[in-house]
Amino acid sequence: AVPVALVAGLSRAAHFGVLIKGAKPLEALARITTLILDKTGTLTDGRPQIVSIDRHGDMSEDEILYFAAALDQASKHPIAQAIVGAAQARGIALPIPASVLEMPGEGVTGIIEGRRVVVGGTGFVAAQLGMAKAESAVVEAGSVVVSLGVDGKLAGHIVMADALRAGTAELLSGLRDLGVGRILLATGDRRAVAEAVTAGLGLDAVRADLTPDQKVLLVLTERKNGPVMMVGDGVNDAPALAAADIGVAMGARGAAASAEAADVVLLVDQLDRLLPGIEIAQRSRRIAL
Ligand code: ADP
Ligand code: MG
Repeated sequence: AVPVALVAGLSRAAHFGVLIKGAKPLEALARITTLILDKTGTLTDGRPQIVSIDRHGDMSEDEILYFAAALDQASKHPIAQAIVGAAQARGIALPIPASVLEMPGEGVTGIIEGRRVVVGGTGFVAAQLGMAKAESAVVEAGSVVVSLGVDGKLAGHIVMADALRAGTAELLSGLRDLGVGRILLATGDRRAVAEAVTAGLGLDAVRADLTPDQKVLLVLTERKNGPVMMVGDGVNDAPALAAADIGVAMGARGAAASAEAADVVLLVDQLDRLLPGIEIAQRSRRIAL
């Protein structure tokens, strides 16, 4: 039977919007020493604003947004949803693509009005277009950049700003006080963006350009040094959440796949709920022992 203190802990955590899927994860949560954070939608608030649209061919800004958003309707990625929202805010009516294929964490390809369209990260789109690398003045340090390709050619870039969640520095120092001595970032995004957004946070390591498989590998490597908690929101994070001692999903706006793979689901879109979650787990464990 599960000790009463643990049951009480589960219900107290639920009050804070922290869904812990049983007594075992509650106990494991109390012992975490390493934290790996996803970037987009986890460390950042995942409501990016468009900063500029950089045209590369003869398409207008609105046409670039039209094709990018039409395809990104198929994706729950926070960057994709921001692009769809921006197009709607400009009053652009979006067509339904004839076919779509999403590569989680990378982008989407499909057919719109008979044209072959690809939208996603600069590296992904460049690879789809058979280009060595998306070279452009706007692929600047620190900004999230989404590229658009149409009929085999680069049509443009959408430059976006995705801010760190408020109170992140305080959250990380609070976690260190609770015994989480090692904190890392793991992102599918580019290194320049990862470093710009985490500057000043004092992270122990920043890993960028990671595929979902490489996120899993990072989790398994870190587990050799102690119990690892991985926090993420995307479909691309689900395997890494499953590989961690404790997987935590940003449940309020994250992908269903990540919530299913996780041991803990944050039911509100607030990363700082990790603090009461771990505090309650540590207290419940002391009482139960
Ligand atoms: P993280 O691992 O930090 O959450 P992702 O790997 O999910 O980041 O996303 C990295 C980058 O890939 C984004 O900044 C964006 O440029 C691009 N991206 C991924 N999926 C999409 C999509 N559906 N539409 C547009 N861009 C995308
Ligand atoms: Mg993410």
